[in-house]
Amino acid sequence: MEKGKYSIAVFRGDGIGPEVIRQAILVLNAVSRRAGIVLDFRDGLIGGAAYEETGDPLPDESMALAKDSDAILLGSVGGPRWEGLNHHLRPERALLDLRKNLGLYANLRPVIVLEDLLGASPLKQHIARNVDILIVRELTGGIYFGQPRGIRTENGMRIGLNTLVYSEAEISRIGRIAFSLASKRRKHLCSVDKANVLESSRLWRETMIQINRDYPDVKLEHQYVDNCAMQLIRDPSQFDVIVTDNMFGDILSDEASVITGSIGMLPSASLGDRTALYEPIHGSAPDIAGKDLANPIAAILSAAMMLRYSFHRFDEAAWIESAVREVIKNGMRTADVLQGRRQAVGTEAMGEAIAKKILN
Ligand code: NAD
Repeated sequence: MEKGKYSIAVFRGDGIGPEVIRQAILVLNAVSRRAGIVLDFRDGLIGGAAYEETGDPLPDESMALAKDSDAILLGSVGGPRWEGLNHHLRPERALLDLRKNLGLYANLRPVIVLEDLLGASPLKQHIARNVDILIVRELTGGIYFGQPRGIRTENGMRIGLNTLVYSEAEISRIGRIAFSLASKRRKHLCSVDKANVLESSRLWRETMIQINRDYPDVKLEHQYVDNCAMQLIRDPSQFDVIVTDNMFGDILSDEASVITGSIGMLPSASLGDRTALYEPIHGSAPDIAGKDLANPIAAILSAAMMLRYSFHRFDEAAWIESAVREVIKNGMRTADVLQGRRQAVGTEAMGEAIAKKILN
């Protein structure tokens, strides 16, 4: 990676993906102008858009582009048009393959409730206030990938089978990322498992305890997943960093996302040993696609995470995050977080306002 010059593979995808990514690029261009850095955007195809053009939801050229870039910015994939396709041609499959092929084992999902959006949270304001959680989810192992798997017939009865398996090495690498991130925040790591029932969770817990020896300043706590699901609603501000396995993380991070008021606010980063991937956590939202209704903030904050984690441009990432806060503070709202008698703004107006704030 050349200092001050970064190549970004851009996969706009389907539904609202292209709309929100357009605004993320507008904001990144404002950052590039203010910081004097060069951002080289290279478009590639993924998902339904790629299937329509090439018959393959993840063409080889797209995989090569992803591997060859300094970072990847992705919109969202999928939609009703491709639901009838065979499993291997489905847009969502392409995204799983992209993550797997790039070895993106650590999924980071910050869950931050903005003071000015407290009223949009489904929780009572005094419970949602000051929530600032970072969920670190293992992304390439566990029950979503374990073998054997499938549906087969045994003694005349069909059975569905999945395997939950984690090696010590897989647990250790996600654990080290989580401890390292916690040591730079409020130094509190909550490891979530089901060690009272599952052996893979027992190994998970033992490994976390071992890694804690290398991070003595981080306070490690363990919660069973069922308790954690309850605590996230009862008292979410008790959490700083949460680390958990693939399936528990999938479920808990969706639960936590609604505390912020809208899925349209939440960015994510998927990190591995090579090129990292940044994407909003929402899907392609076919119900609002093409209507200038989508909230682009999740995509814009994903771009901020890219500046921070891939390019180590910490100030520039903070510019974006404070521009988002200011625009919200000034009362701009897309329809998904609208409260009271305000007038909603569209996707483009929101992106333009954030880009403008960065240049002011
Ligand atoms: P979704 O996240 O697309 O939408 C859920 C609800 O949230 C919808 O009502 C939608 O309008 C709203 N929403 C989502 N993003 C929004 C935004 N930025 N601003 C305002 N409102 C927003 O989930 P879904 O409806 O379950 O899935 C739709 C398609 O997306 C499916 O094909 C699914 O497989 C796919 N999907 C893709 C990804 C991804 O690309 N990473 C993730 C989840 C779902």
